[in-house]
Amino acid sequence: MEHLYSEISRLLAPLHHCTALTGAGISAESGIATFRSKGGLWETYDPAIYASIEFFRKDPSKYWTIRGDFIRNYDSYQPNAAHYALAELGSMGILQAVITQNIDGLHTKAGSTNVIEIHGSLRHIYCLSCGAKFTAPHVPEGLPPYCACGGVLKPGTVLFGEQLSQDVLLQARQASATCNAMLVIGTSAVVQPAASLPYLAQQNGAKIIEINIEKAFPDADYFLQAKAGIALPRIVEKIKKIRQ
Ligand code: NAD
Repeated sequence: MEHLYSEISRLLAPLHHCTALTGAGISAESGIATFRSKGGLWETYDPAIYASIEFFRKDPSKYWTIRGDFIRNYDSYQPNAAHYALAELGSMGILQAVITQNIDGLHTKAGSTNVIEIHGSLRHIYCLSCGAKFTAPHVPEGLPPYCACGGVLKPGTVLFGEQLSQDVLLQARQASATCNAMLVIGTSAVVQPAASLPYLAQQNGAKIIEINIEKAFPDADYFLQAKAGIALPRIVEKIKKIRQ
Protein backbone atom coordinates (compact mmCIF):
# COMPACT_ATOMS: atom_id res chain seq x y z
CA MET A 1 0.00 0.00 0.00
CA GLU A 2 2.83 2.44 0.88
CA HIS A 3 4.34 1.81 -2.54
CA LEU A 4 1.00 2.64 -4.17
CA TYR A 5 0.73 5.94 -2.26
CA SER A 6 4.24 6.85 -3.41
CA GLU A 7 3.51 5.95 -7.03
CA ILE A 8 0.27 7.98 -7.10
CA SER A 9 1.94 10.97 -5.42
CA ARG A 10 4.82 10.90 -7.93
CA LEU A 11 2.28 10.79 -10.77
CA LEU A 12 0.28 13.77 -9.43
CA ALA A 13 3.11 16.00 -8.18
CA PRO A 14 4.12 17.51 -11.55
CA LEU A 15 0.59 17.75 -12.97
CA HIS A 16 -1.56 20.88 -13.36
CA HIS A 17 -4.74 19.58 -14.97
CA CYS A 18 -6.27 17.01 -12.67
CA THR A 19 -9.96 16.57 -12.00
CA ALA A 20 -11.73 14.84 -9.12
CA LEU A 21 -15.05 13.05 -9.41
CA THR A 22 -16.62 12.57 -6.00
CA GLY A 23 -19.64 10.74 -4.62
CA ALA A 24 -21.43 10.26 -1.34
CA GLY A 25 -18.50 8.26 0.13
CA ILE A 26 -16.31 11.36 0.47
CA SER A 27 -18.87 12.85 2.86
CA ALA A 28 -19.42 9.66 4.87
CA GLU A 29 -16.73 10.77 7.34
CA SER A 30 -18.66 14.03 7.83
CA GLY A 31 -21.52 11.91 9.19
CA ILE A 32 -23.68 12.03 6.06
CA ALA A 33 -25.20 8.70 5.03
CA THR A 34 -24.42 7.39 1.55
CA PHE A 35 -27.08 5.85 -0.68
CA ARG A 36 -25.77 2.43 -1.59
CA SER A 37 -22.98 1.37 0.77
CA LYS A 38 -23.64 -0.63 3.95
CA GLY A 39 -26.00 1.29 6.22
CA GLY A 40 -26.85 3.62 3.30
CA LEU A 41 -30.22 5.35 2.90
CA TRP A 42 -31.45 2.93 0.26
CA GLU A 43 -31.38 0.05 2.76
CA THR A 44 -34.33 1.79 4.46
CA TYR A 45 -35.89 3.99 1.80
CA ASP A 46 -36.93 2.98 -1.71
CA PRO A 47 -35.36 5.52 -4.12
CA ALA A 48 -38.26 5.11 -6.55
CA ILE A 49 -40.54 6.57 -3.87
CA TYR A 50 -38.25 8.83 -1.88
CA ALA A 51 -36.12 10.37 -4.60
CA SER A 52 -38.01 10.38 -7.90
CA ILE A 53 -39.61 13.46 -9.41
CA GLU A 54 -42.64 11.40 -10.37
CA PHE A 55 -43.31 10.51 -6.76
CA PHE A 56 -42.31 13.97 -5.50
CA ARG A 57 -45.17 15.43 -7.54
CA LYS A 58 -47.61 12.94 -5.99
CA ASP A 59 -46.36 13.11 -2.40
CA PRO A 60 -43.48 15.50 -1.61
CA SER A 61 -43.62 14.62 2.09
CA LYS A 62 -41.65 11.41 1.39
CA TYR A 63 -38.70 13.33 -0.03
CA TRP A 64 -38.81 15.85 2.82
CA THR A 65 -38.78 12.93 5.28
CA ILE A 66 -35.28 11.93 4.18
CA ARG A 67 -33.86 15.37 3.34
CA GLY A 68 -35.73 17.85 5.57
CA ASP A 69 -33.44 17.41 8.59
CA PHE A 70 -30.35 17.84 6.46
CA ILE A 71 -31.67 21.04 4.92
CA ARG A 72 -32.71 22.49 8.30
CA ASN A 73 -29.29 21.63 9.77
CA TYR A 74 -27.40 22.57 6.63
CA ASP A 75 -24.87 24.78 8.44
CA SER A 76 -23.94 22.13 11.00
CA TYR A 77 -22.41 19.68 8.47
CA GLN A 78 -18.69 20.21 8.13
CA PRO A 79 -16.10 19.12 5.58
CA ASN A 80 -13.71 16.34 6.59
CA ALA A 81 -10.01 15.79 5.90
CA ALA A 82 -10.77 14.50 2.39
CA HIS A 83 -12.62 17.68 1.33
CA TYR A 84 -9.81 19.81 2.75
CA ALA A 85 -7.15 17.72 0.99
CA LEU A 86 -8.88 18.24 -2.37
CA ALA A 87 -9.07 21.99 -1.68
CA GLU A 88 -5.34 21.91 -0.96
CA LEU A 89 -4.63 20.06 -4.21
CA GLY A 90 -6.53 22.92 -5.86
CA SER A 91 -4.45 25.62 -4.19
CA MET A 92 -1.27 23.70 -5.09
CA GLY A 93 -2.31 24.08 -8.73
CA ILE A 94 -2.72 20.34 -9.30
CA LEU A 95 -6.51 20.03 -9.25
CA GLN A 96 -8.47 22.22 -11.65
CA ALA A 97 -12.00 20.99 -11.00
CA VAL A 98 -14.07 18.94 -8.59
CA ILE A 99 -17.05 17.28 -10.24
CA THR A 100 -19.36 16.13 -7.50
CA GLN A 101 -22.54 14.10 -7.37
CA ASN A 102 -22.99 15.35 -3.82
CA ILE A 103 -25.60 17.87 -2.87
CA ASP A 104 -24.18 18.79 0.54
CA GLY A 105 -22.00 21.79 -0.43
CA LEU A 106 -19.00 20.48 1.54
CA HIS A 107 -16.39 20.92 -1.23
CA THR A 108 -17.16 24.64 -1.39
CA LYS A 109 -17.19 24.91 2.41
CA ALA A 110 -13.72 23.29 2.43
CA GLY A 111 -12.39 25.91 0.01
CA SER A 112 -12.43 24.17 -3.38
CA THR A 113 -13.16 26.78 -6.02
CA ASN A 114 -14.16 25.12 -9.29
CA VAL A 115 -16.87 22.79 -7.97
CA ILE A 116 -19.23 21.35 -10.58
CA GLU A 117 -22.34 20.09 -8.75
CA ILE A 118 -23.87 17.87 -11.38
CA HIS A 119 -26.84 16.84 -9.22
CA GLY A 120 -27.45 20.36 -7.91
CA SER A 121 -27.43 21.47 -4.30
CA LEU A 122 -29.62 21.28 -1.21
CA ARG A 123 -28.65 24.86 -0.43
CA HIS A 124 -30.98 26.34 -3.02
CA ILE A 125 -34.67 25.67 -2.61
CA TYR A 126 -37.52 27.08 -4.63
CA CYS A 127 -41.29 27.14 -4.82
CA LEU A 128 -42.71 24.93 -7.56
CA SER A 129 -45.60 27.38 -8.07
CA CYS A 130 -44.21 30.94 -7.98
CA GLY A 131 -40.46 30.23 -8.16
CA ALA A 132 -39.70 32.08 -4.87
CA LYS A 133 -36.19 31.24 -3.69
CA PHE A 134 -35.11 30.03 -0.26
CA THR A 135 -31.65 29.23 1.08
CA ALA A 136 -30.96 26.34 3.46
CA PRO A 137 -31.25 26.22 6.43
CA HIS A 138 -33.97 28.87 6.18
CA VAL A 139 -37.05 26.99 5.03
CA PRO A 140 -40.54 27.14 6.54
CA GLU A 141 -41.67 24.38 8.91
CA GLY A 142 -43.79 21.56 7.52
CA LEU A 143 -43.57 18.20 5.84
CA PRO A 144 -43.43 19.27 3.09
CA PRO A 145 -42.85 22.99 3.64
CA TYR A 146 -45.01 25.38 1.63
CA CYS A 147 -44.36 28.82 0.23
CA ALA A 148 -46.58 31.75 1.31
CA CYS A 149 -48.29 31.40 -2.10
CA GLY A 150 -49.34 27.84 -1.23
CA GLY A 151 -46.88 26.12 -3.59
CA VAL A 152 -44.73 23.24 -2.41
CA LEU A 153 -40.97 23.76 -1.94
CA LYS A 154 -38.36 21.66 -3.73
CA PRO A 155 -34.57 21.79 -3.41
CA GLY A 156 -32.56 22.47 -6.54
CA THR A 157 -31.29 18.90 -6.71
CA VAL A 158 -31.77 16.50 -9.58
CA LEU A 159 -34.20 13.74 -8.63
CA PHE A 160 -34.46 10.44 -10.50
CA GLY A 161 -36.40 11.15 -13.69
CA GLU A 162 -35.18 14.75 -13.96
CA GLN A 163 -32.76 16.13 -16.54
CA LEU A 164 -29.34 17.40 -15.50
CA SER A 165 -28.51 20.98 -16.40
CA GLN A 166 -26.92 20.81 -19.86
CA ASP A 167 -24.54 23.67 -19.00
CA VAL A 168 -23.30 21.91 -15.89
CA LEU A 169 -22.96 18.62 -17.75
CA LEU A 170 -20.92 20.35 -20.45
CA GLN A 171 -18.57 21.76 -17.80
CA ALA A 172 -18.20 18.28 -16.27
CA ARG A 173 -17.46 16.73 -19.66
CA GLN A 174 -14.88 19.41 -20.44
CA ALA A 175 -13.16 18.96 -17.08
CA SER A 176 -13.07 15.19 -17.71
CA ALA A 177 -11.92 15.31 -21.33
CA THR A 178 -9.08 17.76 -20.64
CA CYS A 179 -7.54 16.36 -17.43
CA ASN A 180 -4.39 14.26 -17.32
CA ALA A 181 -5.43 12.42 -14.16
CA MET A 182 -8.79 11.88 -12.52
CA LEU A 183 -9.31 11.03 -8.87
CA VAL A 184 -12.51 8.99 -8.56
CA ILE A 185 -13.47 9.14 -4.89
CA GLY A 186 -16.26 7.53 -2.89
CA THR A 187 -18.67 6.81 -5.68
CA SER A 188 -20.36 3.53 -6.52
CA ALA A 189 -20.04 4.66 -10.16
CA VAL A 190 -23.46 3.42 -11.19
CA VAL A 191 -25.41 6.66 -11.64
CA GLN A 192 -25.19 8.03 -15.19
CA PRO A 193 -23.90 10.26 -16.64
CA ALA A 194 -21.36 10.60 -13.77
CA ALA A 195 -20.29 6.97 -14.16
CA SER A 196 -19.19 7.57 -17.76
CA LEU A 197 -16.95 10.57 -16.96
CA PRO A 198 -13.88 8.50 -15.93
CA TYR A 199 -14.13 6.70 -19.31
CA LEU A 200 -14.21 10.04 -21.10
CA ALA A 201 -11.09 11.06 -19.16
CA GLN A 202 -9.39 7.74 -19.90
CA GLN A 203 -10.17 7.94 -23.63
CA ASN A 204 -8.38 11.28 -23.66
CA GLY A 205 -5.28 9.84 -22.02
CA ALA A 206 -5.92 10.51 -18.32
CA LYS A 207 -4.85 8.07 -15.61
CA ILE A 208 -7.67 7.07 -13.28
CA ILE A 209 -7.00 6.84 -9.55
CA GLU A 210 -9.84 5.33 -7.56
CA ILE A 211 -10.12 5.87 -3.79
CA ASN A 212 -12.88 3.85 -2.17
CA ILE A 213 -13.37 1.42 0.69
CA GLU A 214 -14.57 -1.10 -1.94
CA LYS A 215 -13.61 -1.23 -5.59
CA ALA A 216 -16.39 0.26 -7.70
CA PHE A 217 -14.75 1.46 -10.91
CA PRO A 218 -13.37 -1.65 -12.64
CA ASP A 219 -11.03 0.09 -15.09
CA ALA A 220 -9.04 2.33 -12.75
CA ASP A 221 -5.28 2.48 -13.33
CA TYR A 222 -4.72 2.70 -9.56
CA PHE A 223 -7.01 1.58 -6.77
CA LEU A 224 -6.45 2.72 -3.18
CA GLN A 225 -8.69 0.75 -0.86
CA ALA A 226 -9.03 3.26 1.95
CA LYS A 227 -11.26 5.86 3.52
CA ALA A 228 -11.02 9.10 1.58
CA GLY A 229 -10.28 11.06 4.76
CA ILE A 230 -7.19 8.91 5.35
CA ALA A 231 -5.95 8.47 1.78
CA LEU A 232 -6.18 12.03 0.42
CA PRO A 233 -4.26 13.82 3.21
CA ARG A 234 -1.51 11.18 2.89
CA ILE A 235 -1.24 11.86 -0.83
CA VAL A 236 -1.08 15.62 -0.21
CA GLU A 237 1.70 15.19 2.37
CA LYS A 238 3.70 12.98 0.00
CA ILE A 239 3.30 15.44 -2.88
CA LYS A 240 4.54 18.27 -0.64
CA LYS A 241 7.69 16.26 0.17
CA ILE A 242 8.28 15.48 -3.52
CA ARG A 243 7.89 19.18 -4.43
CA GLN A 244 10.24 20.43 -1.67
P1 NAD B 1 -23.33 5.76 -3.35
O1 NAD B 1 -24.06 5.88 -2.06
O2 NAD B 1 -23.97 5.02 -4.46
O3 NAD B 1 -21.92 5.06 -3.09
C1 NAD B 1 -21.06 5.47 -2.06
C2 NAD B 1 -19.68 4.95 -2.35
O4 NAD B 1 -18.80 5.49 -1.39
C3 NAD B 1 -19.55 3.43 -2.29
O5 NAD B 1 -18.83 2.97 -3.41
C4 NAD B 1 -18.77 3.19 -0.98
O6 NAD B 1 -17.96 2.04 -1.03
C5 NAD B 1 -17.95 4.46 -0.90
N1 NAD B 1 -17.54 4.88 0.45
C6 NAD B 1 -18.25 4.83 1.60
N2 NAD B 1 -17.55 5.38 2.61
C7 NAD B 1 -16.37 5.79 2.08
C8 NAD B 1 -15.23 6.46 2.62
N3 NAD B 1 -15.14 6.81 3.92
N4 NAD B 1 -14.19 6.74 1.79
C9 NAD B 1 -14.24 6.38 0.47
N5 NAD B 1 -15.30 5.75 -0.09
C10 NAD B 1 -16.35 5.47 0.71
O7 NAD B 1 -22.93 7.23 -3.77
P2 NAD B 1 -22.77 7.86 -5.20
O8 NAD B 1 -21.99 7.02 -6.11
O9 NAD B 1 -22.37 9.28 -4.98
O10 NAD B 1 -24.29 7.82 -5.70
C11 NAD B 1 -24.76 8.81 -6.34
C12 NAD B 1 -25.92 9.55 -5.62
O11 NAD B 1 -25.82 9.66 -4.21
C13 NAD B 1 -25.86 10.95 -6.10
O12 NAD B 1 -27.04 11.22 -6.78
C14 NAD B 1 -25.74 11.85 -4.87
O13 NAD B 1 -26.52 13.01 -5.05
C15 NAD B 1 -26.31 10.99 -3.82
N6 NAD B 1 -25.94 11.23 -2.41
C16 NAD B 1 -25.25 12.34 -2.02
C17 NAD B 1 -24.95 12.51 -0.67
C18 NAD B 1 -24.22 13.77 -0.26
O14 NAD B 1 -24.41 14.83 -0.86
N7 NAD B 1 -23.35 13.69 0.75
C19 NAD B 1 -25.29 11.56 0.26
C20 NAD B 1 -26.01 10.43 -0.19
C21 NAD B 1 -26.31 10.28 -1.53
